[in-house]
This record gives sequence, C-alpha cells and structure tokens, in this order.
Amino acid sequence: MEIASGYIGFAQYVGYFWHGMGRAETRMVCFGVGAAVIVLLYRGVTAVGRLTVVLWVGMLVTVFFIIGSGFLNFHSKVAFDFPPNDLKMAAYVTAKGVEIGKAMGAKTVTGNSRKGPYTVTQYQTTHNTGGTVLGDNPKTSTVNRYLQSWDVPNVFVIGASNYPQNASWNPTGTLGALTYWAIDALKNKYLKNPGRLVSA
Ligand SMILES: Cc1cc2nc3c(=O)[nH]c(=O)nc-3n(C[C@H](O)[C@H](O)[C@H](O)COP(=O)(O)OP(=O)(O)OC[C@H]3O[C@@H](n4cnc5c(N)ncnc54)[C@H](O)[C@@H]3O)c2cc1C
Repeated sequence: MEIASGYIGFAQYVGYFWHGMGRAETRMVCFGVGAAVIVLLYRGVTAVGRLTVVLWVGMLVTVFFIIGSGFLNFHSKVAFDFPPNDLKMAAYVTAKGVEIGKAMGAKTVTGNSRKGPYTVTQYQTTHNTGGTVLGDNPKTSTVNRYLQSWDVPNVFVIGASNYPQNASWNPTGTLGALTYWAIDALKNKYLKNPGRLVSA
C-alpha cells in the first residue's frame, strides 16, 4: 500500500509538468515508475540495505532543512495577523456588498470592513458556512433549491454548508427555515415522485 501510494504521489507530481494528464496517463506513469523501481532494486539485499540508509539520511537532512528554514523565515505577523492584501480584499467586498444592498433598494445599508490587527479578545466569527452550496446550476453548486444533491437525487444535504456566502449575521434561523423548506419538498414532492426535483 505504502509503495503503491508512493507511485500515485509521483504520478501526481508529474501532473504539474504534464498538463491535461488523464487517468490512463497517470496509470501509465505509476506502472513505469513501478517497473523502474523493480529493475533498480533487483540486487543483493545488503546493497538494498545500504541504499535504504542513504535515502533515510537524505530524508532526515531534508526534514531538518525544512524545519530550520521555517524557523529562520518565521514572521509572526504573517502567521497570526491579517496580511495587507486580506484587508484590501475585505474593503473591496464590503464596498461591493454596500453597492448591491443599495441597488436592491434596502432602507439601511452599512458597510463595516474587517480591520487589523487580528485579535482574540474580540469576537471574530463562529459561523462557518459553505461546502455543499445550493444554487440553480449543477456546475456551480452541490444541491438544488430543495437541498437535494444534483448528482444523487436520494441525498438531501441540510446545514450551514448550503450557504454560498457568509452573510454577516446569525445563520441558524434561516438554516431552520431552509430545513423546513427541504423537508416539505421531500415529503410532498420527492416521496410522491422520487427523482430530481429541479431540472437543469
Ligand atoms: C460558539 C458558537 C456560537 C454560535 N452562536 C450562534 C448564534 O448566536 N446564532 C446563530 O444563528 N448561529 C450561531 N452559531 C452557528 C451555529 O451553531 C451554526 O450555524 C449551526 O449549528 C450550523 O448547523 P449545522 O446543522 O449546519 O451544523 P452543526 O450544528 O455543526 O451540525 C453538524 C453535526 O454533524 C455531526 N457530524 C460531523 N461529522 C459527522 C460524521 N462524520 N458522522 C456523523 N455526524 C457527523 C456533528 O457532530 C454535528 O452534530 C454559533 C456557533 C458557535 C460555534
């Protein structure tokens, strides 16, 4: 298993250079590497043992090099704070959000862009969303408006994972409403006529 996953890993790295590499090509590379390894290792067990020690030392040197360079290049501000570009992105999307809100005719529109520095003393967010987003296009969403999987019609996915974005306020009320909405569709539409509830 370990050796096979090594071949697969090697083939995946090759994919960085061989653009558009498909399944058949990946298998071909795996097979080629496998055959090369067998040919190269077809020698006395003592020689294989020596080779293993050399590779092991090489691995240790690489690991210590990576750990060492990590320490030498460590910047706490990058690791624990918002980089300037994050703040710029936050300002940009906030301004866009305000623009959209105004265009939709909302009575009150306020934009409060995220500011640095990062601090654990203020509430940041515990509203994790996204992952199986709902939408009207199977190419850009996982579930349809009834939270039914586009790919597997007898799977309904319900949760904050359905949100395609993170609205700034509490998500769980809407999530409850979406749940009732999906269960209603499941009971009154799907069970009567199992299959895709939305054609796309
Ligand atoms: C500290 C905190 C405060 C919050 N306060 C608010 C608030 O005031 N107002 C608000 O609207 N929202 C609040 N939220 C957000 C709210 O809790 C979530 O939006 C909501 O719980 C999401 O519901 P969910 O069903 O998508 O996921 P969850 O409630 O996380 O449910 C997922 C469930 O799946 C289970 N699970 C995970 N993996 C597996 C597995 N492999 N097999 C089986 N089960 C699995 C988990 O155990 C869990 O029970 C808060 C969240 C936190 C953490």
